[in-house]
Amino acid sequence: MSTRTGQGDLDGLVAVVTGGASGIGAAVARRLSAAGAFVVALDLEPDAAPSGITGLLCDVCDDSSVRAAIEDVITTYGRIDIVVNNAGIGAQGTVETNDDDEWHRVWDINVVGLVRVTRAALPHLRRSPAAAIVNTCSIAATAGLPQRALYSATKGAVLSLTRAMAADHLGEGIRVNAVNPGTADTPWISRLLESAPDPAAERSALEGRQPHGRLVTADEVAGAVLYLASASSGSTTGTSIAVDGGMQELRLRPQVQAPAAIP
Ligand code: NAD
Repeated sequence: MSTRTGQGDLDGLVAVVTGGASGIGAAVARRLSAAGAFVVALDLEPDAAPSGITGLLCDVCDDSSVRAAIEDVITTYGRIDIVVNNAGIGAQGTVETNDDDEWHRVWDINVVGLVRVTRAALPHLRRSPAAAIVNTCSIAATAGLPQRALYSATKGAVLSLTRAMAADHLGEGIRVNAVNPGTADTPWISRLLESAPDPAAERSALEGRQPHGRLVTADEVAGAVLYLASASSGSTTGTSIAVDGGMQELRLRPQVQAPAAIP
């Protein structure tokens, strides 16, 4: 059972976070726990869940695994109030690059995985007085990024699903929102950088793409998820919060170098 590290807005509520053993999901699990929720990280690597967070084996690509995990949570805690659909994987390339198998594999995790978890949790969310679903989407859903055709398609679907689900379940008292992170400093990005021919140059290119000049932190994304999961956002549904250092909305003037002094 999770040990709560504090009391707060989510006192006594039960949250499940997919992909909660790493990166953004782990930061979300810690934040929700600190706000008073019992948090279960549903992950392929449950033993890697952060200290104080219960990890539970779950493959979001396998409907029976998802249903068993949700039933385990109900057996232990008796309720589910918050679902954070965060598990996801990346893919690189243009529309020519990825074969059909990769399209199906990434789609299965990033989109259908979200559907499986939500579908299994809905009967329990309907009984919650404070039901909220938060989906981890991406800047890739709202801006055209090079070499991310497949990944962007999945995150565009997550954004559309967020709105459709919000409409379907508003009358049942279930709010559905998304967060759109810019490039965030997580193990995923570390792996991506390690595979680049020049990791330092790749890192500085990613940092330079963020208007605020650095990568987003996982905890900054988690702060937005906490807001969307809590009663503080009780009138917010069917929308997304960008946590991207201004990447989506800002159009900054390029820095003009001062001319070198003429000797
Ligand atoms: P990460 O690789 O650090 O963590 C992903 C977690 O998901 C891991 O614990 C992994 O075991 C788990 N997972 C993978 N497949 C799974 C499956 N089939 N079933 C259950 N768990 C599974 O990644 P991250 O950077 O923290 O990304 C988390 C989410 O944030 C993803 O949806 C990603 O698309 C999104 N996102 C990340 C960034 C970024 O720059 N890191 C930016 C925007 C959006």
